[in-house]
Amino acid sequence: MTFRAAGTSLSGQAITDSVLIVLGDGWTGSVISDDGRIAAFQPGIIGAEANRRLAPYGRKIGPDPASIGAAMIGGIAAINAAGMCCGTANNSYQTLASMRLVLADGTVVDTGDPASRGAFLHSQAPMLQALVDIANEARFDAELNARIRRKFAIKNTTGYALNALIDFDDSIDILQHLMIGSEGTLGFISEITYRTVPNHKHRACALLFFDTLVGACRAVMRLKTEPVAAVELMDRAGLASVTGKPGMPGFLSTLGPDATALLVEIQGTGDSDVAEKVEAVTRALLETPPARPVEFSADPYLIEKYWKIRKGLFPAVGAVRPVGTTVIIEDVAVPIEHLASATADLQAALVKHGYREAIIFGHALDGNLHFVFAQGFADDEAIRRYANLMDEVAQIIVGRYDGSLKAEHGTGRNMAPFVEMEWGHQATQLMWRIKRLLDPKGLLNPGVILNDDPHVHLKNFKPMVATDPLIDRCIECGFCEPMCPTRGLTVTPRQRIAGARELARLTETKAPPQKIADFRQSFLDVSIDSCAACGLCEGSCPVGINTGLLTKSIRGQVQSPFGKAVASLAGHHYHAATNTVRLGLSAASALDFVTAGYGLDAVGIGLAKMTAGRAPVVSHRATPRAAHTIERFETPPGEGSRPIVFFSSCATRMFGPARDDAEGEDLSVTLLRLFDKAGLTVITPPRHGSLCCGQPFDSQGLSVEADRKADEVIDVLVAASNNGRWPVLIDTSPCSLRLKERAAKHLAILDIAEFLHDYVLPNVAIPVRSAQPVALHLTCSTRRMGLDAKLTAVARACADNVVIPPDIGCCGFAGDKGFTRPDMNAHALRTLAPAVAGCTAGYSSSRTCEIGLSVHGAIPYRSIAHLLDAVCVAPVTQLPPVSADQQRRYVQHEGT
Ligand SMILES: Cc1cc2nc3c(=O)[nH]c(=O)nc-3n(C[C@H](O)[C@H](O)[C@H](O)COP(=O)(O)OP(=O)(O)OC[C@H]3O[C@@H](n4cnc5c(N)ncnc54)[C@H](O)[C@@H]3O)c2cc1C
Ligand code: SF4
Ligand code: SF4
Repeated sequence: MTFRAAGTSLSGQAITDSVLIVLGDGWTGSVISDDGRIAAFQPGIIGAEANRRLAPYGRKIGPDPASIGAAMIGGIAAINAAGMCCGTANNSYQTLASMRLVLADGTVVDTGDPASRGAFLHSQAPMLQALVDIANEARFDAELNARIRRKFAIKNTTGYALNALIDFDDSIDILQHLMIGSEGTLGFISEITYRTVPNHKHRACALLFFDTLVGACRAVMRLKTEPVAAVELMDRAGLASVTGKPGMPGFLSTLGPDATALLVEIQGTGDSDVAEKVEAVTRALLETPPARPVEFSADPYLIEKYWKIRKGLFPAVGAVRPVGTTVIIEDVAVPIEHLASATADLQAALVKHGYREAIIFGHALDGNLHFVFAQGFADDEAIRRYANLMDEVAQIIVGRYDGSLKAEHGTGRNMAPFVEMEWGHQATQLMWRIKRLLDPKGLLNPGVILNDDPHVHLKNFKPMVATDPLIDRCIECGFCEPMCPTRGLTVTPRQRIAGARELARLTETKAPPQKIADFRQSFLDVSIDSCAACGLCEGSCPVGINTGLLTKSIRGQVQSPFGKAVASLAGHHYHAATNTVRLGLSAASALDFVTAGYGLDAVGIGLAKMTAGRAPVVSHRATPRAAHTIERFETPPGEGSRPIVFFSSCATRMFGPARDDAEGEDLSVTLLRLFDKAGLTVITPPRHGSLCCGQPFDSQGLSVEADRKADEVIDVLVAASNNGRWPVLIDTSPCSLRLKERAAKHLAILDIAEFLHDYVLPNVAIPVRSAQPVALHLTCSTRRMGLDAKLTAVARACADNVVIPPDIGCCGFAGDKGFTRPDMNAHALRTLAPAVAGCTAGYSSSRTCEIGLSVHGAIPYRSIAHLLDAVCVAPVTQLPPVSADQQRRYVQHEGT
């Protein structure tokens, strides 16, 4: 059996053809104590979430892999993952306080609990004695002891953590430290308690360019003794791979053939601490000067830009690799004094074996280098080339520099054949004895770390069949999974892509037609039907894949001619279609009225029974009141007026407030009042009732009708906005995102967050903010437009206490899915109600999302415009502008 946390590991350690045990929602508990210095985490918590829980204490966990936004505590500990800053000092091994673990025979021990330790010492006495015997062999063999110490002086995750044998006397301490980096082969870590480290917020960074690799490596050695938090090396090929990309410095293209860059980060407890360290480091660099001046910056924008260059290296290879190849990232470490020659040797080996596009970067302070290249495994020749490269890499790293073949990514299957070469026979035999002692039946992740097959790294390659240009770049890293609203309900974006690839493989290899048909049907039912097409996955994907686009494309391919005809009919008679919905909602209101609020629930239950759950959800809470048609305004803008075109989406034209929301009103009514208060001139487009941005058609893959409707509305809005001169407010975020994407050249589209923040807030007064706690939901579209900060600022301007539940991303309502697949909405919002308990109301910027949020949050959700309207008034007097001279005098008078 193989345990899987987030499945982001890179050496083939979280896969199996046997039993895969995947950590789900049940493993996300934590207990933080000693003012954040000690923190116990269950293994299913994502590393970044652990740090979010520690943030109020100014602490974080020690390990800092670049994958921390997806990788989970279980995987981080079981790999002994590390990153840019943690080095060998703050990894899981060094910061482990205690652990709750389950052995292969089911025995459980909590090493932080004296009673549990006592019972374990008693029940497992023979096993623990055998472990001590193994440890003594390592400890008292001077040569082996010294070798273990030398090898763990640098980063090393090849084989087991043999340093546990010589670092600890106590058998339980030995055992729990052996578990670190054991990759699920010795037992299950069900909880880990870390000693946390300070989270320094004050930083400064510099990007240093050297003419040669040797020059850069000399600087790294000099910096080793200076107060630097991270030194990242980027070789010439790496810099070339990001040259010309948005945000990259223009001079990258002018660098010489051996140019090498170092990204240096300094961290401190405050600005003066950072400044002192910057001075010391700059002074040290005088001894090994870079080719361009040393300029440290504390500007968050520049810091982000520098790290973007560094973090863009890996995706740069992934994004441009030939279709059908896999992106491989290797991970070696050498003693720092060999960094320059090891890097040059690796560069030469990569060129020699035909990997000219390969790039090298790494955590230079730790002598830790990553090299990245694209590799096909389709034919014997390609596999041979890969095998030759790996053999030569092993010769270089182990033979020449006595380094680590896996510094931080774990041994897995990929490096298992090389463990003995790196460690030698004696040490490897100790590892086998440890494995057999703790897992005598070989149940736990067999073949990982230790493997008898010398060619296991050349077997069982996963085919990467060309499938669809929308997803062919996918490297199956799993970074998109935490964002997906259907993770844990159906599948994740990575699994959708894996499903599409498998379908393509079955088709390409001419599998039996029935097998293809069966797989295709379950793929459509499970993967495609449940995708919210929210596109949130794109934001965390290193190669920028939006799996929702694949979903929509496939939905379009499977639409029947009848479905397309119905869509076209509805699109051409949109006013009638929306009126029909409004009529239905009015009828629902009448029924609700005569049945004192019980009728709709009864109808909903009946409908669900009759259609076996296929009918759209009808209930008192989920079925809103009908909205009223909006008035037509054509006020010709006069002198000094500020005209804004107001386009109300079809969702807000149909769906009024929730039935049980006593304070709710139609959004258009509220917005028109805000126009008035802010002194803005409103213009509404003609034929409003028949217009739609096409979003409802687009999400069904009906792209022809979706685009026709979008173009129709764009033409009308261009005319209404005086050829794009006046801004256009769209009151629903998914619709503003869609129109921004399609009409950026012709129209200045304002999402409601921008409208309220930029046009209303500065022109109204807020005498008193709401004292009641309110909830805020940032829709997927708000996030994708980068408007979360503006929406949050509007809410904070209106209310003292704004609750944004951290676990809620996409609400899963997905336009109409909330009515037809309520399970998606319920799953995505399963943690909402407790998170917003105590709030009087919730606010957002999409009427359909608000319907589901109201149902699952158990508080009424309305548009953010309602919140602002409730607290703001038109300014009583328009004060004349204050002159600069008046300002100066006022400031002098106040003495400030
Ligand atoms: C783009 C990219 C960048 C990366 N950058 C880094 C980096 O900077 N540094 C780094 O070190 N790694 C990096 N990695 C590798 C990987 O993300 C880390 O090794 C991470 O720690 C794996 O965590 P996971 O939750 O995905 O574990 P998984 O892949 O699910 O599992 C990893 C191993 O741990 C075992 N395991 C999981 N949970 C348990 C448990 N509870 N008990 C016992 N065994 C368990 C599994 O069986 C498996 O052998 C990167 C990966 C990618 C794709
Ligand atoms: S879609 Fe992107 S984030 Fe998701 S697995 Fe593929 S490459 Fe990784
Ligand atoms: S579009 Fe949304 S629902 Fe679909 S795979 Fe991406 S994150 Fe998941």
